[in-house]
Amino acid sequence: MTYNRDRQASILIVDDTPANLVALAAILEPLGEKVVLANSGKEALRLLLRTDFALILIDVRMTEMDGIETARLIRQRARTADVPIIFVTAFDRAEMDMTAAYEVGAADFIFKPFRPDALRAKVATFVDLFHKTEAVRVQAEELRLLQLREHQRELREVERERESAEARFANIVELAPDGIMAADDAGRVLLFNRGAQQLFAVAAEQVPSLTITDLIPGGLPANASSPVEVVARRADGTEFPAEVSVSQLTLARGSVTTVICRDVTERKRAEDRVRALNAQLSDRLRTGVAMVADLAGSLNPSEVLERVLSRVVEALQAQQGVLLRVDHGQRLSVLNSHDTDGQRRLTRGRPFPTLPVLEKAILTQRPVLNGSIADPAADRSVARWLDGVQYSAALPLRVGDDDRALILLGRRNGVRFGPQDVETLALIGNVAAVALHNAELFVQAEAASISKSEFLNMAAHELRTPLSVITGYLSMLEDGTLGGPSDAWRRPIEILNVKAGELNKLVDALLLAARMEAGTIHGEPEAVDLVAASREALERAEARAQLLGAQLLLEAPAESVQVHVDSAHLGRILDNLVNNALTYSAGNPWVKVGVGPGAELCVEDHGLGIPAERADAIFERFYRVNDPSLPPQPGTGLGLYLSRELARRNGGDLVLERSVPGEGSLFRLTLKGAEDTTAGVPATVEAGL
Ligand code: ADP
Repeated sequence: MTYNRDRQASILIVDDTPANLVALAAILEPLGEKVVLANSGKEALRLLLRTDFALILIDVRMTEMDGIETARLIRQRARTADVPIIFVTAFDRAEMDMTAAYEVGAADFIFKPFRPDALRAKVATFVDLFHKTEAVRVQAEELRLLQLREHQRELREVERERESAEARFANIVELAPDGIMAADDAGRVLLFNRGAQQLFAVAAEQVPSLTITDLIPGGLPANASSPVEVVARRADGTEFPAEVSVSQLTLARGSVTTVICRDVTERKRAEDRVRALNAQLSDRLRTGVAMVADLAGSLNPSEVLERVLSRVVEALQAQQGVLLRVDHGQRLSVLNSHDTDGQRRLTRGRPFPTLPVLEKAILTQRPVLNGSIADPAADRSVARWLDGVQYSAALPLRVGDDDRALILLGRRNGVRFGPQDVETLALIGNVAAVALHNAELFVQAEAASISKSEFLNMAAHELRTPLSVITGYLSMLEDGTLGGPSDAWRRPIEILNVKAGELNKLVDALLLAARMEAGTIHGEPEAVDLVAASREALERAEARAQLLGAQLLLEAPAESVQVHVDSAHLGRILDNLVNNALTYSAGNPWVKVGVGPGAELCVEDHGLGIPAERADAIFERFYRVNDPSLPPQPGTGLGLYLSRELARRNGGDLVLERSVPGEGSLFRLTLKGAEDTTAGVPATVEAGL
């Protein structure tokens, strides 16, 4: 709607003289506006009720109601208060009550006689002003309407969004798997979604009469933003554990409490199951650890058998058990038996019947629970052992690669063996099998070690006799007792002598090692001067050093260094160390014996050295480094073993302190000082050392 400038403005002319009205209408007609005539003030007021006028021309002097009065009444009405009024008067200015006219809002005056064109021009100005004002008003109105429409559109949009958000929210609330409810200050339920209906087993029609206390009898925690566990109650009165989150919203009309509720029965059940499993597991672990610790405490086979069985009986809460050996024909014999009241012993080694439960365990190589132990043919003591057993568990054990054993457990307390026992059995079975295997290996190792020592001893003794015959005849050949040897024989005899000497040393070392193991080596410790002993050892090596072009050095204090040691043992240790230093030498051989400062000495060489990873092994019996890039060296691998054992038996020690391949080695021998003689080394001496 835009303002139409062609619209006619209405001009009201008020005059009680009809001729004046006609004249004025004629004058204004050329303006093309609508001219309305009123022949009295009253008529004018009536017309003004119906029509909006752009301008009013009023004759001042009218008989019934004069122009000023008419104008006042016009002004009083809100609708016409602002319409411009022009007074038409025959008075001249002096006569005219201008003040009164202005007071009633005269816009202008036209004094008669007037010029028609001047009057028309004046009226035209007001009409023009009216049109402009009207155009502005219309525009303002249009703008207002436009804004109003925009505002209404926005409102509708917001309303639509609110409605759709509300619908979405209601949908989410309705479909949420959790129970969602809201209650007012009095605890009356305002909102109760489908999840809540299912959770509390409430029918839709019951909801309006519900209160929160019906559902959560213990009351709600105040504002629990993270879930809190409560006891919830269904419509039928049954209770269940639930987790609730609570939030409170304060509104103008009171507060609303929103509750999200979830049934945690299943989760709690699962938690309880996990807790129970954990407890079982830690029980089993404890049993396993205790068993390992217990079994590791002994290598005595019969003790291990006893412990294995009593531990298994205890761990499986059985009242009795028997450990059986399974031979290759699947026959069973008792290794050990155990029962909690000590009434049902079975003698070791006696045969045991292959009861159905045992047969199945042997066949499947798996634990068998609660199997049959019926055996009508069982002899008296087995029958007595089985008497009263209600439930059984058979556990096959693989002891090593070849041997097999079985544990048969019995419960007399009416409790069946269950699946959790299988796991305990499996765990314990492994430990038990390892323990039994270790005990077995120990027995074998012990037997092997004894027979090896015995063999060493026997071999060394047996070798000695023919060796002494050989050396006897060799010396007779050498000194001419058997007639002068021919020159051709002299060299072979020399070589034979050297080799017989080596053989003698070898036999000596073997014999010493055998005695060492048998524990029959004893020393006769006395005060010995370490400096003198070192010097003597170097003198003994002198001949060999010359042959090798090696240099022998002694670095010793001027005074003696007294140590407490068996002098023969010390001599053997020093000879071993110096000989090794010469044997495993390189380049220009060089051996230095350094004595002191305390009761110790070092033997150092610039020889082949020993790789770090072999540094421990060289002290083991018969261990030799065997470098394939070097020519074979004579030796037994017993020298360092014997030297260290002798040093230790004399209260000292021998260590490889430093060795670098290609640079050399340094062995350190520590001994007891002569003043420290109280700690006793047995004072018997074996002859021949
Ligand atoms: P054997 O000398 O009879 O072989 P030992 O027990 O005395 O036996 O020595 C064991 C091994 O240690 C030797 O075979 C040798 O390889 C190494 N070994 C000992 N002493 C030295 C040394 N001074 N330098 C380098 N290697 C050595």
